[in-house]
Formats: sequence, structure tokens, C-alpha cells
Amino acid sequence: MDTNTGTNTSDASFASAVPTAMTGAFLPGDGTVELRETPLPRPGPGQVLLRVRASGICGSDIHYIYNGHVGEGGAAYRGVVAGHEPAGEVVHTGPGCERLRAGDRVAVYHISGCGQCDECSRGYFIGCTSESRAAYGWQRDGGHAPYLIADERTCVLLPEPLTFVDGAFIACGIGTVYEALTRIAVNGADRLLVTGLGPVGAAAALVARALGVRTVYGAEVVPERMEWARGLDLFDAVLDSRDRPLEEIDRLTAGTGVEAAVDCSGHPAARTTALKALRVRGRLALVGEGGQMTLDVSDDVLHKQVLISGSWVTSVHGMTQLAELLARQNLHPDRLVAERFPQSQAGRAYEAAAGRAAGKVCLVFD
Ligand SMILES: [Zn+2]
Ligand SMILES: [Zn+2]
Repeated sequence: MDTNTGTNTSDASFASAVPTAMTGAFLPGDGTVELRETPLPRPGPGQVLLRVRASGICGSDIHYIYNGHVGEGGAAYRGVVAGHEPAGEVVHTGPGCERLRAGDRVAVYHISGCGQCDECSRGYFIGCTSESRAAYGWQRDGGHAPYLIADERTCVLLPEPLTFVDGAFIACGIGTVYEALTRIAVNGADRLLVTGLGPVGAAAALVARALGVRTVYGAEVVPERMEWARGLDLFDAVLDSRDRPLEEIDRLTAGTGVEAAVDCSGHPAARTTALKALRVRGRLALVGEGGQMTLDVSDDVLHKQVLISGSWVTSVHGMTQLAELLARQNLHPDRLVAERFPQSQAGRAYEAAAGRAAGKVCLVFD
């Protein structure tokens, strides 16, 4: 189908203002970034054209695309413009768009679903069961280019005073921890332990505080990450996971354990620490991907009456709520970004992201 047919994008101002080709960043899978010209189509029905202003680099971009293409079938990278964490400004709307207007600032939910299946109807495009499901930067062009065609339904308004870099973070990592923390209903009565202090773990502390949690402990094994996390002013204590963290939790909580924990590491030992650190009727959310977890079912789960919740990304609705929450409290996840690069230096940006022990890397556009 020709998606250009019938668009309202034929006016002269649009044609003169927006190019028909642009330079996009692609990931060949050998630890390099390729900058090359790519066509810029016009938005079709239900689509908007965004001027990209920020585009985050995620751990998944490094591990599953940049270092080597991993994943078969639907999960695989299809040689598109990379970047699944875009934020930008609407410059034009295709036919049928009713919610967004030119000039709107948006973050983009990183997967476009069919909009019709059960998960899509709940806003969880991540769980879309249709063959048309496509993640930006994986199966359809993503945010590492000056412009992006996005489905209107995947765009979340970015309220003032949030920045575009905040928006790029909301598009993936921080949305993921928001979902996990709301699922275990963290609140002001909780002390929270976060295991794994990469950008997502640090974001968990920021979101937990936005949700009213007053005491947040972190645990990590990498010294650079511990140091980075200590400097963020988000953790009451950052524990060295190599040095009996459970004894430290015992001491910090006067022997009770914490009410809630979230694992952002995906590491078996860290998951066990998060589980064993819980007090009776504590709640654990698992966010970190991959690997295994060993449970002492009776001691650690049944007799302690623990709740364990899995969480995968978030919904469009969750992203919207999160953006509003952060804006109301004037909280900026962009402070977790350690380095920013212009798109013309995307190669350097990926090198930095792949080599960094702590903090997040983001592409920014004028
Ligand atoms: Zn991501
Ligand atoms: Zn669907």
C-alpha cells in the first residue's frame, strides 16, 4: 500500500521545510556505526512526522545490535535506522491524526503494535501478538536520524518542564521501572532496595522517590557504578554486593528487612539478595533481563508470604502517567545521562556507551 496516498502533507510549506532524504545511523553489528543517506517518507494515515531532538542509547542496542545482531525472527534487527528511545517535536500530522498538532513535544513508546489485539487495546504494545508489531530502531526506522515517522498512538505528550532528553529516557528505561514499581505498589511506608545500579537502577530510585518512598538503598558489584550512584543523591546507602549486602540491610533496617525491592541487574546473585532482603510480606519486582533465579521456596517465599512480580516495559498509559508525575515534581531523569553526542558523532557515542561502566549516553539534535 502506498502510505503517502491521501496525506495532507502536500502543502508547499511542508515540501520546502522537510527534506526527502536524511542521514541516519545504522548498526551493521560489528561494533561500528554507519551513517548513510536514507529516504524520509511522508507520514501516512495515523502517523506523524517528528523532528527528533534526543535519542537514547540503551543496553539492548549495545548487546543485541551494535556488538552483533542477536535474535531471530521478530526480535531481530532489520537494518533500519537505529534508536528505540526517541523524543522530539511534531512537525506534521498525516490524515486521521486527531490528538497531536504540529509543535507538540512528545516521547515515543518504543514499539508500534497493531492497536487491535488484547495487549494493544490495554496500551501494552510490547505484548502485541500481531505480525505487524514493530519496534522502532529494530524492525522500523528509529530515532537516530533527524526525522522519524511515528504512529500517533505511540506518541506521549512531554509536558513542561521535561526536556527532550528526559523524554528519551521515559521512552524506555524509566518507563520500565515505573511499571515495575507501581505493580508492587511502592509507597511512603516502604524502604526500597534496588539491585543493579546502571541507568535503569538509578532511574528506579528516582521514580521510587517520586512515588513517595523516602528510603532507598542500592546494591551493586561494579565499583564505578557504586561511585556514580553515590554521587546522584538518590540513595540513602549504596552497598557493595561483594561484601555481605544482606548483613548491611539487616543493620540498616534494624533486622526487619526492606518492604520492597526491585532487581534491575538480571544477575542471579543480585536477584537472590533482593529476595532475601525482604521483610515478611515484602514485594519484589524483577526487571533485569535474562538468566536464572534460584528460590528457597519455603523459607524465602511461602513462610515470608512474599509477592514476586515480573514486569516488561510499560504501557502507553503508564508512560503518560509517568511523564505527568515527573513534570509535576520537576524531576529530570536527564541527570542520569553521563554523555551527550550530536548525531554526526554517533560512532563515538556508541563507543562511549559500549565502554562506559556508569551512566547513560544520549544522541542530541539541534
Ligand atoms: Zn531501551
Ligand atoms: Zn497488537
